Amino acid sequence: MANDVTVVAGGGGFIGGHLVARLIDEGRLVRAVDRKPLSEWYQVHAGVDNRSLDLQQMEACRAAVEGATEVYNLAADMGGMGFIENNKALCMLSVLINTNLLLASQEAATDRYFFSSSACVYAAGKQVTTDVTALKEDDAYPAMPEDGYGWEKLFSERMCRHFLEDFSLTTRVARYHNVYGEHGTYDGGREKAPAAICRKVIQAKLSGDHEIDVWGDGEQTRSFMYISDCIDGTFKIMTSGITEPINLGSSELVSINQLVDIVEEIAGMTVKRNYILDAPLGVRGRNSDNTRICEYLNWEPSVSLKAGLERTYRWIHDELQA
Ligand code: NAD
Repeated sequence: MANDVTVVAGGGGFIGGHLVARLIDEGRLVRAVDRKPLSEWYQVHAGVDNRSLDLQQMEACRAAVEGATEVYNLAADMGGMGFIENNKALCMLSVLINTNLLLASQEAATDRYFFSSSACVYAAGKQVTTDVTALKEDDAYPAMPEDGYGWEKLFSERMCRHFLEDFSLTTRVARYHNVYGEHGTYDGGREKAPAAICRKVIQAKLSGDHEIDVWGDGEQTRSFMYISDCIDGTFKIMTSGITEPINLGSSELVSINQLVDIVEEIAGMTVKRNYILDAPLGVRGRNSDNTRICEYLNWEPSVSLKAGLERTYRWIHDELQA
């Protein structure tokens, strides 16, 4: 049995795949675990103990964390608004992953445990306008999170808190705000806005049919964090003394129309936008208040949306052409 293993649950997914790469660079012995067969992982890294296991099952969690000093839980049934608004039960079943992983990590006397929460925990009533006030950590309460997915995240945050308080398992929780970048989902129904818009504009360019669908009126606002910032922040939060859930997101607020403007600029063309008003939309506006992460870590995400989208666009372009 190998000791000092760092486990990445959801290692076959978007953020998990990048985190595994970073941990290898840090010289860690890594075990990546995901429910998908290895052939479907977004990145498969050499020199890693890669395992296909369903972490909703307790026995699988025990096998996953054997000999682990650190566990990063990035495994969840998730996707963009199109997925989470139509699959609430599946989203809530991710509670089994975090609950069983916490129990197994406690049994295995793991040193540290990280949970990837989401901005979807924030109360809906604080996100009703496009010029929304950025969300502070305390805005999650009184609770009225995104139905299904957000409730699971909020509950699992509290499980982490109580395992820390009652069982002395060192837990860390980050609330990710929209992460995008290479090696992520860009089609199939689980993709999020940045990858979806890049794909649509690329397809428009390649096909010569210069029209794309935009969900809603395009005036809804969000912030988007590039993957390298997400990985840096995750690593910093895991190694910090921060015991409360903390925002990890960009504070560069844009509308979806502005996002399309940037992608058009990268593509060097404009498209006709068909607004699909009855598409799943989520909240009207959402931004990350980064006061706390600046104060605690003297750091916040810094890759501009334009720079991150350029890299993402090129990667999706190459994938579509391949
Ligand atoms: P992803 O879908 O690419 O990765 C999640 C991985 O978890 C997938 O590979 C999936 O197969 C795996 N998984 C699902 N159920 C599993 C199970 N029962 N056992 C083992 N593996 C299982 O998503 P991502 O974007 O990499 O997200 C990682 C984490 O970050 C998730 O918890 C997600 O909720 C959270 N998050 C992501 C974003 C974002 O914008 N990407 C925003 C907020 C929170």
